[in-house]
Amino acid sequence: MNTKSTNVGSTDKAILRRYLELPQPDNKVMATYIWIDGTGENLRAKTRTVDKEPKSHKDLSWWNFDGSSTGQAEGSNSDIYLKPVAIYNDPFMLGKNKLVMCETYKYNREPTSSNKRISCVEAMKAATDQHPWFGLEQEYTLLDRDGWPFGWPKGGFPHPQGPYYCGVGASQALGRDIEEAHYKACLYAGVNIGGTNAEVMPAQWEYQVGPCEGIDAADQLWLSRYLLLRIAEEFGVQVSFDPKPIPGDWNGAGCHCNFSTQTMREPNGIEIINEAIQLLQQRHKTHISVYGRNNELRLTGRHETANINQFNAGIANRGASVRIPRQVGEEKCGYLEDRRPASNCDPYAVTDIIVRTVCLGEKDPES
Ligand code: ADP
Ligand code: MN
Ligand code: MN
Ligand code: MN
Repeated sequence: MNTKSTNVGSTDKAILRRYLELPQPDNKVMATYIWIDGTGENLRAKTRTVDKEPKSHKDLSWWNFDGSSTGQAEGSNSDIYLKPVAIYNDPFMLGKNKLVMCETYKYNREPTSSNKRISCVEAMKAATDQHPWFGLEQEYTLLDRDGWPFGWPKGGFPHPQGPYYCGVGASQALGRDIEEAHYKACLYAGVNIGGTNAEVMPAQWEYQVGPCEGIDAADQLWLSRYLLLRIAEEFGVQVSFDPKPIPGDWNGAGCHCNFSTQTMREPNGIEIINEAIQLLQQRHKTHISVYGRNNELRLTGRHETANINQFNAGIANRGASVRIPRQVGEEKCGYLEDRRPASNCDPYAVTDIIVRTVCLGEKDPES
């Protein structure tokens, strides 16, 4: 008897569809609460039924979860609170169902250590008059469940980098189904996704969120990561936000943060952009400290990056820490691109410190 095939269970999406298509009672709405766990990088989610469609996150009450299972509390005092902060349409359950981005608070209603949003909201409020905009370029790598990149030969490597960036064709574009499904899901959910492209390393992709003003950028990026993880899960594929998933001559993965204020976008804003770059330079190390784990493996000075220990800036320079896009240099206004953040960064921490350094004039203590 072939025990392998008879003992292994599996689910079937075609059967699932019969149930997903069941009508849902009018007064029953599914709200999936999503939060960042104790790692500060991974997402968790659980769903509850509410009795009417929420129109805003304010229509949803706080909830809680077992923080001892997410690295956020001890077992003896384990309840962590979930505070809804933004809602989106649910592209999986459709209808009135919602996805809910949440902040986390400890038993004493103090924020948990992975709640970087509070500080970010404070900064955005203080800088409201400057209208800070962000465009985040999220790069990611698709992996099989054994941890090897999706579509790569087992025990070997694909052809060296070259044909894959914006590549088309079966050997060039590995995992496009996931990228396309994610794009549509973002649009449906209400994420301001700006575009997408295949990246330099095969099985690596990028999408952009923005431009968004203030706190929306990071809220939407986190929600877009949730969508990506859930969609890839359905295809049986892992998403890695590791900034250097494969060592050697393979590009790493970043989360470039494009940034502007009102005055940068106005005529001759280039002067303000140059001043901002000066301010960013003065706090290089402090920025790097919140730009993602293992970023030193990526920011080597090779593979379209600047060395982690040196700050440099330039027009159209993809080997710079901060790049001024060519068009911005020509039009003398627009935005700058901070190329330093890693793909696993917390966008709350990244947009927070950029606004504090550039808009609020925060400085490091003299050393
Ligand atoms: P590249 O790959 O050339 O670095 P992308 O096209 O991937 O650039 O990303 C550019 C990002 O910059 C997009 O997310 C876009 O929304 C954003 N962006 C464009 N204009 C502004 C602006 N004035 N302020 C902030 N972000 C901007
Ligand atoms: Mn890009
Ligand atoms: Mn890219
Ligand atoms: Mn970029």
